Amino acid sequence: MSVFLSYHKITSRIDFGICTRKPNDFEQDVAYIASLPKLIQPTITFDDGYIDTYTEAFPILSKYGLKATLFVISDMIGKSNSWDANFFGSFKHITQSQLRELSDYGWVIGSHTKSHRSLKRLSPNQLQEELCSSKHCLENITGKPVDFISFPFGRYSPQVIEFCKGAGYKRALSIAQESPDGFVQRSLAVYRFDSIKQIKAKLSNQQFEMLRLRAINSFSNLTVVMHQLTTYSTS
Ligand SMILES: [Zn+2]
Repeated sequence: MSVFLSYHKITSRIDFGICTRKPNDFEQDVAYIASLPKLIQPTITFDDGYIDTYTEAFPILSKYGLKATLFVISDMIGKSNSWDANFFGSFKHITQSQLRELSDYGWVIGSHTKSHRSLKRLSPNQLQEELCSSKHCLENITGKPVDFISFPFGRYSPQVIEFCKGAGYKRALSIAQESPDGFVQRSLAVYRFDSIKQIKAKLSNQQFEMLRLRAINSFSNLTVVMHQLTTYSTS
């Protein structure tokens, strides 16, 4: 079974988010991964679809002969990150033509939903919309089937899995946990402050690193609450 390492932003810009990784650190990770035997190399994935996946990560991965999987928020293609803007300004998302180029080059393009809401709390209609419209949008851009999804904040429920299967998805990723039926696999998030030692610990499934990832992920649940509060107070 594949192991997935999950990245978000790759940039040297100042950003307080723990999911931002500097290009130099990322290159060290990639050099290490490329040095592993093919059979045990993890799959590198990117959530959110920031433009730096194309401008920073793509050249580094290509230099080492690796490809990746990119999960895109379909509503944000070609736009700035109003959904996740912070004190340090906004960050741009990948454009349609860049997305097509990555897909043509052999990257796998998956959905990270339509608007990055936590899927657990949505009505059936909203859930359907998040899953189906992102899938169709990405299929139109790439001309290929999109059957892989990564859940925002890693959150899902049995109902979410059922709706994913109904929408035509074949597999899913969560940074929180896998599902008993194997439909959802867990991906291992890589954070700003991770060292190569920690990357190795993630890959060898070391218990302390797993507990640490769980603790960080429970903080990300706070982010979901903050997003919901902001949405309610501005809508
Ligand atoms: Zn995300």
